Amino acid sequence: MNMLARARPELVALKPYASARRSGFTAPIRLDANESPWPDAGTAEAALNRYPEPQPERLRERLAELYAVAPTQLWSGRGSDEAIDLLLRAFCRAGHDNVVGLAPSFGMYRIGATVQGVEFRAHALDARAGFALDAKALLAHVDAATKLVFLCSPNNPTGALHHAAIDTLATALAGRALLVVDEAYIEFAAVPSAAARIAEHANLAVLRTLSKAHGLAGARIGTLIARADIVDLVARIAPPYPLPTPSVAAALAALAAPALARTRQRSSWLVRERERLRDALGACAGIVQVWPSAGNFLLLRCVDAAATFARLLAAGILVRDFSSQPGLEGCLRVSIGAREHNDAVLAALATEGR
Ligand code: PMP
Repeated sequence: MNMLARARPELVALKPYASARRSGFTAPIRLDANESPWPDAGTAEAALNRYPEPQPERLRERLAELYAVAPTQLWSGRGSDEAIDLLLRAFCRAGHDNVVGLAPSFGMYRIGATVQGVEFRAHALDARAGFALDAKALLAHVDAATKLVFLCSPNNPTGALHHAAIDTLATALAGRALLVVDEAYIEFAAVPSAAARIAEHANLAVLRTLSKAHGLAGARIGTLIARADIVDLVARIAPPYPLPTPSVAAALAALAAPALARTRQRSSWLVRERERLRDALGACAGIVQVWPSAGNFLLLRCVDAAATFARLLAAGILVRDFSSQPGLEGCLRVSIGAREHNDAVLAALATEGR
């Protein structure tokens, strides 16, 4: 079944905004977009007086290569955050539909759903079970009004990998709901991306980002990967120029072969460093548990999270305090930094005996 049958019909029927860059014409004198004839008076950076291409072809091709899909199967915008927002808008009717996601997990699925006026149904993961996912139990939240199921894998902030459930979930949800697999941290995991599986599953979407492994959080480039009909729908409802010119230039530089090789080396280093830190933190005073992680971060349970947070802050180190979230009592999340940053964490926590 074509998943557009589950999208908002008024959006499927919507004739998209005809921006100047979509007209298909080019000419040396461009007076079609109410732009300034001069670069900005401050930096005078080349070409910033002109609107960018909605989806620059070179970037699309490079991302398609990187993610091993066809260029027609991806849409890029301002971080995966924007793709999450647009999927919610494209599929969910306010006051009627619902979406399902994990808890704990990345917070923007719930925020985006609430902004769109749709119920967020949380499937609770149990810390005592290592935050493992029971696909059958998750599916019990799904009903006829469920449009999207968010599966963050590796999951933020637990670090758990849920890729083994993708085929079961996509098959069970076929024709009913879109399974959105958020792979923001996949570069640090030892499993292949689910992107290849969109060939088997019409109801599978995958989110990727340049914000983590590629070191471009400030450029805001996230990508939705799905069948071309879903990608087309998202592109049609997106704002006309979602990709700022300087961000596109930064992304193209990061996707050149030597930069990609460096990124892969750095990701492998971060994975090794994560394991070193996991062992060392496990031996630190005040830390009860360090969960295994497939991301570039570790979730810790502390005897006293507020005290550990304060101790780190006093040493000039900021980590994320999740201890007030249900199911994450006593928990802090620590990103894997450079060697000296990680050593500073260990030095700050190693000053007490166990
Ligand atoms: N998904 C997950 C799981 C994340 O942790 C984050 C950012 N913390 C995002 C998406 C958003 O990433 P982006 O910078 O691509 O918007």
